[in-house]
Amino acid sequence: DLHYAQERGEFVFHYQPQLNLDSGRIHAVEALIRWQHPEKGLLAPAAFLGTLDETGEIVGVGRKLLLAACRQAACWHAAGYPDLGIAVNISGREFWHDSLIETVREALVQSGLPPKSLQLELTEGIFMENVDSAVDRIRALREVGVAVSVDDFGTGYSSLAHLQRFPIDVLKIDRYFVQDLPDSQTNKALISSILALCKGLGLDTVAEGMENREQLESLRTLGCRIVQGYLISRPVPADEIIKLLQHDWLQEFGPA
Ligand code: C2E
Ligand code: MG
Ligand code: MG
Repeated sequence: DLHYAQERGEFVFHYQPQLNLDSGRIHAVEALIRWQHPEKGLLAPAAFLGTLDETGEIVGVGRKLLLAACRQAACWHAAGYPDLGIAVNISGREFWHDSLIETVREALVQSGLPPKSLQLELTEGIFMENVDSAVDRIRALREVGVAVSVDDFGTGYSSLAHLQRFPIDVLKIDRYFVQDLPDSQTNKALISSILALCKGLGLDTVAEGMENREQLESLRTLGCRIVQGYLISRPVPADEIIKLLQHDWLQEFGPA
């Protein structure tokens, strides 16, 4: 099934907005893979991503989807949102594949998307597999002009000593730290420290998995500007994004 899904065009992206709490604007959307299965319906990545990765098919699927996401973002730019960024997840196998840089270049050229609008999300584990080579690869990506973020930060094995060596732009705070806000003093302290660390290193931060208003207020108080989670929106098909871009977020979630 998985093998033919690619040919049949059953892999699609849903998009989830990242909101800037200060400006009330959607700063970027994250592309998240879904499998539109003919019998089982819409499947989340947990059901099939591991297998795609094991067989190596993720490389071909990822290449096609990256181009689709860049084209979609270019459409949103043309529709009057030229500052909207697009974040795409890259697995270890995709990151280390020889074709990575060429694939990214090709997607940008074919879609006409400005490189600075594309952000690639990598998990900490990928960086730590081989620190020196990862630094070189991220540099090469940065030379193409795209931004790089560390996804699920705080759950892997990042060493702080290594973190400062990586030429990254954004750090995404894993939802594990967000879920127990505002009650958990420990998680508040951890988020504060991550924010201070990012400030010192000149990195942007995105808090993931924000599901309710209490978490939003807590994140705002802690100084987190960009948030992503079900409270803003679940990942949705591309044609539902314009409605979210037009929404008055300051009115809904502006400071009390
Ligand atoms: P991720 O990149 O950390 O993406 C965030 C995940 O959290 C997504 O799950 C999203 O739907 C979910 N999420 C967002 N907001 C909330 C919230 O408020 N509460 C909760 N409980 N969950 C929330 P999803 O779509 O199932 O994706 C899971 C993982 O699969 C992603 O984690 C990413 O690592 C991977 N993935 C997704 N799409 C791709 C892709 O195109 N390529 C590759 N290589 N990996 C992908
Ligand atoms: Mg991600
Ligand atoms: Mg994440």
